[in-house]
Amino acid sequence: MEVTDIETAVLGSAVDAASLPAQVGARELEISSVVVRIHTDEGITGLGESFYRSEENNHFLAESIEAMGRHVIGKDPRDIKAIWHELYLHVKRAGAYGALSAIDEALWDIAGKNAGLPVYQLLGGQTSEVNAYATFPADKTADELTEYAEWLSAKGFEAMKIGAGFGIEEDRNRIKTIMDEIPDDFGLAIDANTSYNVTDARAVAETGSEYEIEWFEEPIAHTDIQGQAELNKSVEVPISGYQTHTPHYPALDHLKANALDIYQPSLDYVGGITGATRVASLVEAFNKEMVPHALGPAINYAASLHVAAASRQCELIEFAVLDDDVDDPGRYIAGPYVENQDAITCRMVDESIHRVNRASA
Ligand SMILES: [Mg+2]
Repeated sequence: MEVTDIETAVLGSAVDAASLPAQVGARELEISSVVVRIHTDEGITGLGESFYRSEENNHFLAESIEAMGRHVIGKDPRDIKAIWHELYLHVKRAGAYGALSAIDEALWDIAGKNAGLPVYQLLGGQTSEVNAYATFPADKTADELTEYAEWLSAKGFEAMKIGAGFGIEEDRNRIKTIMDEIPDDFGLAIDANTSYNVTDARAVAETGSEYEIEWFEEPIAHTDIQGQAELNKSVEVPISGYQTHTPHYPALDHLKANALDIYQPSLDYVGGITGATRVASLVEAFNKEMVPHALGPAINYAASLHVAAASRQCELIEFAVLDDDVDDPGRYIAGPYVENQDAITCRMVDESIHRVNRASA
């Protein structure tokens, strides 16, 4: 089998952007994505997906997939590891981890379709049930979040994650207000998106420990392994991260240092299914937990579910609830979250579609 053609499509978001607070870089988070479709000479096509944080940047991502795709044309798509490592030679200098991830997901999709098996079975089969926890947009007050927690609990979620990094007092108040009000069987996790130093993170973590929250995600810079380890050993609340690690190699340093209890690889960025399954193997060896970061759209989410199902140390996965104007937040991701779905159902060359094939490679 040979790869003959690679297309990318930039999808626009049909939901409003979420606003991230100043503490984590004050920006709008758009759930737009880039889908890659890899064609083969045997008629099997594979889909993969990644995304940056805005539709505009996703056009750059599509171009990097197209550029990387030149190294995939003519190859046997089942040689996933060999292709992954060839692409990594370029990516480790150029930083195009989103492109590597999307291409890798599409190659696994081809492998699954070729074998007539779901990808999780190619990865060794299902090892456990996986539940989803709800991530909620950062720009809500504690009182609003308490109401959302009750809504999510009533709809079947067992936990939710909220933004942190608003300052020690504010974060402590949010934890206290929400934990005092939410149902006893509903868990709360917080995510500071690397915004604290160790001293301030410890102050917030102490309140998190007191209220037995589920985890404290990315409390400090992901580059400060010693600081994370110090924090993880000195507080009760589990420390978690790091969605920005690329690819799986940094996981070893963090695990050896006992710098976190929960590892959260992001498939769209860690190197796709290949990168994430390697994280899972490392996490298993160190007897830690894996809870994939999975904020994004449907194809990448499906890939994340396959890895989660086939990873022994994974019983939980993120599920973004990006719109509160829906009846059932658990069904949202299957809904019409994309405004231009035609872009992936039609093979039309328009401004949202980029292509690379044997002629241009
Ligand atoms: Mg996070």
